[in-house]
Amino acid sequence: MQATSRAFKDNARHALADPVLQQALSLARSGFQEKRRAAAAKLPEFEDLRDQARAIKDHTLAHLDLYLEAFEQRVIEQGGKVHWARDAAEARAVVLRLCKGVGARAVTKSKSMIAEEIGLNEALEANRIRRVETDLGEYIVQLAGETPSHILAPAIHMTKDRIATLFAEHHGTPRVDEPEALLAEARRELRQRYFEADVGITGANFLVAETGSVILVTNEGNAELTQGLPRTHIVIASLEKLVPTLEDACTLLRVLARSATGQEFAAYTTVLTGPKRPADLDGPTAFHVVLLDNGRSAMIGSEFQDILRCIRCGACMNHCPVYLATGGHAYGWVYPGPMGAVLTPNFIGIEEAHHLPSASTFCGRCEQVCPVRIPLPKLMRYWREQEFAKGLSPPVGRYGTRLWAFVAKRPALYHCCARLAIALLGRLGRGAGRFRSLPLAGGWTGSRDFPAPQGATFQALWRGRGRARERGP
Ligand code: SF4
Repeated sequence: MQATSRAFKDNARHALADPVLQQALSLARSGFQEKRRAAAAKLPEFEDLRDQARAIKDHTLAHLDLYLEAFEQRVIEQGGKVHWARDAAEARAVVLRLCKGVGARAVTKSKSMIAEEIGLNEALEANRIRRVETDLGEYIVQLAGETPSHILAPAIHMTKDRIATLFAEHHGTPRVDEPEALLAEARRELRQRYFEADVGITGANFLVAETGSVILVTNEGNAELTQGLPRTHIVIASLEKLVPTLEDACTLLRVLARSATGQEFAAYTTVLTGPKRPADLDGPTAFHVVLLDNGRSAMIGSEFQDILRCIRCGACMNHCPVYLATGGHAYGWVYPGPMGAVLTPNFIGIEEAHHLPSASTFCGRCEQVCPVRIPLPKLMRYWREQEFAKGLSPPVGRYGTRLWAFVAKRPALYHCCARLAIALLGRLGRGAGRFRSLPLAGGWTGSRDFPAPQGATFQALWRGRGRARERGP
């Protein structure tokens, strides 16, 4: 996927001016938040579960080498195979080799952000292996020739009208507009594709070291059909999906669905352990797990380790005012929203993605709702420091920050400057009580007025109150 994160500001401007996108996003703005709030309120131990979830992930990351080896050993014992991939190119090569090894001409694929991260879709198509996405949102996005704009709801940026047009064009059927009819049409189209597929490719929500199991969570049951009908099942997952035990996975599952969609549990939670056994009625005869590093092991022990706790619930983007205004495509790479603002510079470099950590109001909602308590604003701040240190931010901002730091470190000078600025702005804005535009503050006044200061500075008022308290009543 060609990253356009460097053009975040232009992407965001276009997104804000796109009425169809804004209409689609308006539906997303309240739904997820209210459902999560209600689900959390119904479970008294929800906050305790979040602490446990964080502890499980921290423990796993501290002993990741041991759990990875244990997972591989269990997979082998069950008759499967683990393939280690250092980077995206290696992961793509493994998947293509496995597909070609069984003469695959068609694959079904359930939703996997790792597939997006490694550019698997393009690689399959370049090798003339027909890919059919089986998650409804992914299927819609595939028909549109686009990429997902949300990690849970890939087609959240599309309206029903656009989907109806897409279906009529691609399916060659009369246009239908009712959601139920559109769903039935997608089902009819996909049903046959499951039977035609030579290989099923899925991601993984969790990998269990204790049993060598892969846990898949969906609301459509498509991952189960994707893995169960073809003869070969390939799981692509990143290292941090490991958890020690099934019990740990259950703890994480209890916070995952509630944080993601406000459900107590997703409609389908499937635990897969190895290929089909003789007594099994169905299942693949070959079971492969491709374990992707792609820079994650280098994040362990760094200031960004906390982001490896992420369980891809999407809550941070569902509560982010920037994401909800621009949608996911503005972020310009695979992972959008606050988690993307932290992850993306790790993968494509801060030079390419330096706008993303600044695409935040720092309201802190992302950290408040993250089920594994990732301090997302703190991690974004680390990236902002690097952006500043590498001279990537615009010169006005850099020199302005330096000047501000110089003044802020000298309290007497700072208070004197603040007093003068407040007095000057108060005098200039006395008539209208506000400014329509101000030098160096175009970002603010572009969309709202700047109120003219009134009275003394905060510090002066504070000192005045202190003196009044000392004098007593
Ligand atoms: S960072 Fe937290 S809230 Fe965001 S997707 Fe990951 S787990 Fe969910």
